[in-house]
Amino acid sequence: MQYIGRFAPSPTGPLHFGSLVAAVASYCDAKANQGQWLLRIEDLDRPREVVGASDDIIYTLQAYGFVWDGDILYQSARSTAYQTALDELKLQGMVYPCTCSRKTITDTAEQKGIEGAIYPQTCLHQTIDLNKTPAWRFKTPDQETRFNDMALGLQSQQVATEIGDFVIKRADGLFAYQLAVIVDDAAQGVTHVVRGADLLTSTARQILLQDALGFTHPIYRHTPIVMNTLGQKLSKQTQAEPLPLDSVSTHLCRAFDFLTLNPPAYLVSATSNDCWEWAIQAWPASSSI
Ligand code: GLU
Ligand code: ZN
Repeated sequence: MQYIGRFAPSPTGPLHFGSLVAAVASYCDAKANQGQWLLRIEDLDRPREVVGASDDIIYTLQAYGFVWDGDILYQSARSTAYQTALDELKLQGMVYPCTCSRKTITDTAEQKGIEGAIYPQTCLHQTIDLNKTPAWRFKTPDQETRFNDMALGLQSQQVATEIGDFVIKRADGLFAYQLAVIVDDAAQGVTHVVRGADLLTSTARQILLQDALGFTHPIYRHTPIVMNTLGQKLSKQTQAEPLPLDSVSTHLCRAFDFLTLNPPAYLVSATSNDCWEWAIQAWPASSSI
């Protein structure tokens, strides 16, 4: 089987140690399986994008010795593909327009799910206000979605009751991450998705969309999330420090250590090439295919 992996950062700020761990895991998994490793910049949400963040991320990845295959794919150039997928879902009657405001939803929702109010399907059962540009929601089926995570084992989620009918295109015209990510994973032939466990609760939604569009499912592996001393996930919101561009080997070794690869002490003063060579052979490749 041909292995295609990827790293898909959102340019909302510089890379931090948490993003390094996710990148290292997907890179080692791809390389240990003689696979390709693609880089995709998920710059879908232009308003939330930080100017210069894409270039900064690319520069940092290069400084850490990551080498990607082919051209970088930018989601900002992919609207036509996302619209085609949405149109297909419309044809199949698997989505419906929604003109509810956020406030109406929180005021009328009776159930709370893992990501806030469960949309009470108001617009599924009433004619919508044609003067407003609608958002588009995916009609979630009444069934459990299961998948076997390579690191965490069998996972299951009832998307209808735990998340609800989720938005795949917002009223302001922006496509949602859930749709864009599966359209691009399919278009790029991605076979293995290795990413942080903060995205574990998104996977069932992505599997439902893949089923609806007739896409094959990649193999998923979710890696542990890095926390700060306050027990918060490292992120831009928790002011995670940007990855420094010096002492690259030290930070790579910290990432290897976090991923329980147990790097030898001498590696921190070795070159980044030596670090990679060591990590790729140390990575438990066979457990991931
Ligand atoms: N762009 C997403 C993020 O930075 C990751 C998408 C993915 O790996 O599926 O959180
Ligand atoms: Zn609505």
